[in-house]
Amino acid sequence: MALSSFEKKFLHFFISLGTATPGKTLEEIYKFVSSYFSFILSGIYLNEGQAARTITYPDIRRLTLQDGIVGQVQKENRPIVKKSSEIFNSLPFIVSERDDVLLLPLQVDDDFLGVLFFCYQNTLELNEDFENVFRFIAKYIYLLLKNNYYYVRMEQRVAELITLQIVSDFVNSTLDFDQLLDKTLDAIVGLIGLRTSSITVFKDKLCEGIYTRKQKVLIKTIQSSQEIELNYTQDIYEFLTKERKLISGVTRVGNRILELLPSLNLKRGQEVQYVIIPISRGDELFGSINIFDSTLTHLTNIDNNFLESFANQVSIALQNAHLYRQQEEMAQKDGLTTLYNHAYFQNKLDYLIEEKSMWPFSLIIMDIDDFKKVNDTYGHLIGDLVLKELSNILLTNSREGDLVARYGGEEFAVVLPETNIDEAKAFAERLNKTVANTEILVGEKTPLKVTISIGVAEYRKEWTKEEFVDRVDQLLYKAKKAGKNRVEAEL
Ligand code: GH3
Ligand code: MG
Ligand code: MG
Repeated sequence: MALSSFEKKFLHFFISLGTATPGKTLEEIYKFVSSYFSFILSGIYLNEGQAARTITYPDIRRLTLQDGIVGQVQKENRPIVKKSSEIFNSLPFIVSERDDVLLLPLQVDDDFLGVLFFCYQNTLELNEDFENVFRFIAKYIYLLLKNNYYYVRMEQRVAELITLQIVSDFVNSTLDFDQLLDKTLDAIVGLIGLRTSSITVFKDKLCEGIYTRKQKVLIKTIQSSQEIELNYTQDIYEFLTKERKLISGVTRVGNRILELLPSLNLKRGQEVQYVIIPISRGDELFGSINIFDSTLTHLTNIDNNFLESFANQVSIALQNAHLYRQQEEMAQKDGLTTLYNHAYFQNKLDYLIEEKSMWPFSLIIMDIDDFKKVNDTYGHLIGDLVLKELSNILLTNSREGDLVARYGGEEFAVVLPETNIDEAKAFAERLNKTVANTEILVGEKTPLKVTISIGVAEYRKEWTKEEFVDRVDQLLYKAKKAGKNRVEAEL
């Protein structure tokens, strides 16, 4: 079938449109169609749910259509002509009440995108040819819009993926747990522009080591970090635990939210939009990201899937940081006593000798007297208990900054920065007495007591580390030789 000259021009016109935006498309359509028909205004109503809008050309404005007209065009699904007064709530100034409006559904099968309309001066007769031409136009506009829609969606998805990638790199750039919490909050500021957010971590769930002791929830906000008791079998956390789905909405700030963000300046009674995104590992919820917006603007256009992907990234990074921390601790500490191990002790000595800023510093090495007898009489388990008990005595009697280490089997060391020999000796004497006076409870048996022998010296700059340690060892040996339960110091 040969194309008419109109159809040829028409095809050419559509090919040249490409993937224009709806506004631009409308302008081109108007110019083209108006060169054949004397339309005074063209418009397009886009059916985008809540955000439905009408764009017109050349008199560009947003128009509201009469109730029911869109539904009628969709239902009839063919070109129809109406009087302008039946279409518009208020007439555009270039249109008069006598003018006709041609309405074309942008629809294929059940997929209804909107209505394209043209206003004609005076009366418009719909004949078959005319109708066919405009069906043709409507079909093409439909395809253009569809194309445009997918294009925009795709661009959006790509932008989201790139953002996620950047955020993922950002939060994965540290293995430090606290820094990671900060980075997550920074990422929220970067992504959404909100400083009113916090991250909640259930200490007892995520962490067994350091974090379990407190059985609390760590709440970190931009301004502060805080530990509070939070009953997560209630309210929000009960829901998050069950559903493991994001919660969002608008609410007035009540007790619950103040609890979640204890340090933020949200006023009680103030209206806020919120999104609470669970952070979980497999089936287990171990925290949440809490975002609050009192301006009610920032969160509206953020995709929930995107936020959940973000939370997943944070979850993985948190678990990594936690594992790393655990491993680091394990590498540094002794399993039985939880004191620092021999390797860590050596590093600390290297550091102090190198650093000089904490000189004078001293070293104490001690050994339990006749420990073999304890093992022989009470058994190894009780022997272990004595070692733990002694560790506690050392920890409670040392200062912050002192380093208490398990030096060997039943030998312990305390490194004392900024401590001269007199102070170190006094400390050693005190330890010696405290240990000798402590009754160690061992089940039903009579409590037992142990004594320790101690060597102590202050570091001298001409010594290597090995010489220093050797010297203290010799002093300890001297204390043993001299009858045990005493302190030998290099004065
Ligand atoms: P001395 O007064 O000369 O130090 O006598 P001692 O019996 O304490 O002798 P020594 O220090 O040489 O003995 C160390 C003993 O400590 C030998 C070993 O069975 C015991 N021991 C070392 N490590 C552990 C441990 O982890 N648990 C227990 N229960 N015993 C240990
Ligand atoms: Mg020993
Ligand atoms: Mg011993």
